[in-house]
Amino acid sequence: MIGGEGTAIALGATAGINGALGGYRRIYDWGSPTLSGPIGFFLDSTWAAPGTLAGLGYVGLNEATGADYNAALSERKNRYVYTDSRLVPPRAAAETIGFTVAVREGADPNDALIGHETVHAWSQRVLHMGYWTIYGAWWGGGQLAGTLYGYAVGDESPATRGHLWGYFWNPGELLAYGLYNWTPWQHGVQADANRARTGH
Ligand SMILES: [Zn+2]
Repeated sequence: MIGGEGTAIALGATAGINGALGGYRRIYDWGSPTLSGPIGFFLDSTWAAPGTLAGLGYVGLNEATGADYNAALSERKNRYVYTDSRLVPPRAAAETIGFTVAVREGADPNDALIGHETVHAWSQRVLHMGYWTIYGAWWGGGQLAGTLYGYAVGDESPATRGHLWGYFWNPGELLAYGLYNWTPWQHGVQADANRARTGH
């Protein structure tokens, strides 16, 4: 632990700001029979507070860059959803940081997509640093290993093989696609595998 007192103050401030904004936006589902609201708020205020800080930062960035806050997809759903976001990385329809989901400009925030992203939000709440470590290491290692393998077997597009291994085979993605959009996942995997072999 580094700077215990400072860390405690920072986490306390994060929890306070989160409680205030969450109350204002009515984010947490306090009456949920599964206790998702109380459990989510407890995790966001304690164990997962650094993820909460990142999620609040992502709220601020989306607000600042003109994304649309979607109340219907956020209220009592234990998450913030922004549509028409300019912050989503290339090749992705949406991105989730902490409990904040941003959907690309022009992309449809359909149930499968939002469900998939919500799995990422809860994975970050529950596993927190463990999730970031596993996801990040798999993503980086998979990109590298897949790209090298792609060169070794003569793929037309080795980087696409890297994307396949680092992203589609990532445990975090397997879980999210498995629970919410398995069929599009299979199409995506097949398309990526074909692109790696043929280059288009
Ligand atoms: Zn995903």
